[in-house]
Amino acid sequence: MSERFQNKVALITGGSTGIGLATAALFIREGAKVYITGRNGKSLDKAATELGPKGVAIQSDVAEIADLERVRDRIKEEDGRLDIVVANAGIAENNTFGETSEAEFDKTFDINVKGLFFTTQTMLPLLSDGGAVVLTASILSGKGFPNMSLYSASKAAVRSFARSWSNDLRERKIRVSAVSPGPVQTPIMENGLKMNAEQIEQYRAMVAQVAPLERFGEPSEIAEAIAFLASDAARYITGVELSVDGGMAQV
Ligand code: NAD
Repeated sequence: MSERFQNKVALITGGSTGIGLATAALFIREGAKVYITGRNGKSLDKAATELGPKGVAIQSDVAEIADLERVRDRIKEEDGRLDIVVANAGIAENNTFGETSEAEFDKTFDINVKGLFFTTQTMLPLLSDGGAVVLTASILSGKGFPNMSLYSASKAAVRSFARSWSNDLRERKIRVSAVSPGPVQTPIMENGLKMNAEQIEQYRAMVAQVAPLERFGEPSEIAEAIAFLASDAARYITGVELSVDGGMAQV
């Protein structure tokens, strides 16, 4: 077992389920202390139990700057620094263009764009020089998909942040990259996209037909890519978007 993250301190937003939780578990297995955040107290408690003593759960909403400041202050008090920020919290909801409300627009952008922007900005004073930021975007950042225009546009903003911030943070040699997952079965499919079991199976069958690797990804496979970009092995990589999608972005 390698120990890529020995003595590192990481923050993973949206870390109680899905890709965030798989990433937290991998970081901890490789030596890190990991703070996870999320809005749902129950799933945070469950995740904290699963992660053990090196996983610290803090209930907080990425769309609330005061919450983010509280998270930063807690980490400062306990550890005095952060080496890695994984700004991963996000929602995916369908929207019908022509009938989309301002409230729907604001919800997606408040969490996926504003939330991610202020997560990273709020943590900057704690982030070590030479540290790493990994943003969770999506293959839809570069694709059109029916009824997903808000989500796609929000993830395009995330991809753009990686490019811009890699320049903004050059003096401190903080690297910023985005990971763009393809389809992965996580709670987001049921909770946000309101897909039932049958619809998920239809989606899985469609992906099996069109995607070069013919299957959904696993949360652990996205976690591996995030870990690579956050690790020293990626020390000459910044500003990129890495698709981890079985080739779906090429379809
Ligand atoms: P998920 O629903 O398991 O994870 C999203 C997490 O974000 C949840 O833990 C949720 O509680 C948290 N979250 C949502 N709103 C929040 C808020 N306001 N404040 C704090 N936490 C909040 O789903 P996932 O698939 O693991 O999603 C993780 C990221 O991956 C998201 O950004 C998502 O857009 C992206 N993504 C997922 C897929 C996929 O197919 N699963 C594909 C591409 C991109």
